[in-house]
Amino acid sequence: MRVLVVADLHGNLAALEAVLAAAGPVDRVWCLGDIVGYGPRPRECVERIRELAGPACVLGNHDAACLGRSSLDEFNPVARYALRWTMLQLGPEHRAYLERLPEKLVFEEVTLVHGSLRGPIWEYVFTAEQARATFALLRTRLCFLGHTHVPSVFSEEAAARGEPPSRPGDGDTIELGEGRYLVNPGSVGQPRDGDPRAAFALWEPDRRRITFRRVPYNIEAVQAEMAAAGLPRLLIERLALGY
Ligand code: ZN
Repeated sequence: MRVLVVADLHGNLAALEAVLAAAGPVDRVWCLGDIVGYGPRPRECVERIRELAGPACVLGNHDAACLGRSSLDEFNPVARYALRWTMLQLGPEHRAYLERLPEKLVFEEVTLVHGSLRGPIWEYVFTAEQARATFALLRTRLCFLGHTHVPSVFSEEAAARGEPPSRPGDGDTIELGEGRYLVNPGSVGQPRDGDPRAAFALWEPDRRRITFRRVPYNIEAVQAEMAAAGLPRLLIERLALGY
């Protein structure tokens, strides 16, 4: 079985389509939230994820903000501007899908969450201390999370020793041992690790193996759409920088 794991699409349909083409045939799609916010195609991204992942998707902080569940004051000014724009784009059917998304999902040995188990919507897991707090609440062997937009792997043993996560690059495969892991596939729609290519992961539960991938897409075309929509220049520029 092959499971495509995606996070932080952020309304970037071209990046999502490139990921789907590069992933090839998969048995399931799991989504770690932030389908919308920042990018120019929030409606289409919700529609694609609804069709591909169905209920196998958790709520992100941008998704929650579009539902009015958190104050826009929690966001920086450009993110807030893009969220106001995004809220105007979504129809009742898009909001209805986002409304149904839980903050956490458990499939047998795997937990899905956007941020962390200590703060499902908002907390970033960048450090060993943050990872340890989530491991303490984790009831499964593996947890996929997003939110940082940086591909990372924390093992419970390494986090206990205070070590930083490993940062897998394109084509890197990790074989899971007996321990427990927190795995971030990186962001489809707005990578922040200096590599502007869309990021995703393929999980093969039978082989207990995760492969990290990066795929190029037409960034200039997305930037042109964002400019035409009047989205902030900072958000347009960062796509090409991978930050
Ligand atoms: Zn995000």
